[in-house]
Amino acid sequence: MVRYGFRAVISCVFMCAFLWAAAARAGNVILMIGDGMGLQHILCSQDDDSFLYRGLPLSGFVSTNNALGNVTDSAAAATAYACGVKTRNGYLGMLPDKTPCSTIAEDMAESGGQVGLYTTDKAKGATPAGFYAHVEDRKDDAGIQSHLDAAQKTMTIRGSLKDLAPEMPKILSELKPPFFAMIEGSDIDKKSHAQKMPEMQAAMKDFDRAVRQAYKFARQTPDTTLIVLADHETGGIDEDCRFTTAQHTGVEVPLFAAGAQAARFIGPLDNTEIHAKMRQILFDKGR
Ligand SMILES: [Zn+2]
Repeated sequence: MVRYGFRAVISCVFMCAFLWAAAARAGNVILMIGDGMGLQHILCSQDDDSFLYRGLPLSGFVSTNNALGNVTDSAAAATAYACGVKTRNGYLGMLPDKTPCSTIAEDMAESGGQVGLYTTDKAKGATPAGFYAHVEDRKDDAGIQSHLDAAQKTMTIRGSLKDLAPEMPKILSELKPPFFAMIEGSDIDKKSHAQKMPEMQAAMKDFDRAVRQAYKFARQTPDTTLIVLADHETGGIDEDCRFTTAQHTGVEVPLFAAGAQAARFIGPLDNTEIHAKMRQILFDKGR
């Protein structure tokens, strides 16, 4: 009996240490989406203060096409990051056959983690809505509103931020582990549709400054991974920093990563793979 008791104690010591270590490895994710941000957006906005590309090296590229293999919109792209599935343009949190898919934000909130969705767009914009809504039309304002009302019971959702960089100290102070945060700079896309280079560059500068703050936070917060990418490219900016279209394009978008699990995000990757890797960080405690 004594011998078995001793063995039980020893196994418990090992097992408890294992479980503690596994639990301690649960991670936090900050996903920053520069809406419409291709590599040329970054290169054409570089100055001495720029952080992306200079301070935070490129980790790879992400393919973004939708379920039909066509150029994506922000709804299908957000769904790919949120649910890990490709869908049709216009669909939010929904498979091509209109089955709702549970999002990484919903699963995180359900497991007791903290969720924050922040954007310079409206809270009902396609990118944030992809993480909490389940509708087949991104213009279904009433449908998205009802999902937003429900989601706000378990998530912090703030849209219509004027700029990201000045808001970052408050946003980052709200993140308490374990957390998942999605932070979107939407003006990069809007100014690219309008083909306004100086205004796009100003939007990039704000996003770049926000990334720098998130990077510092991620390095100081244990088990935190920062991922910076885009949902698609907008404007087809060429090597001479000129817009070649007012639409989205299918070119692969740049990917940057820093912090605890950054090595997972060395690309090339598909947008659905980004979801799978974020899910591993947030939920696979025994990895
Ligand atoms: Zn767009």
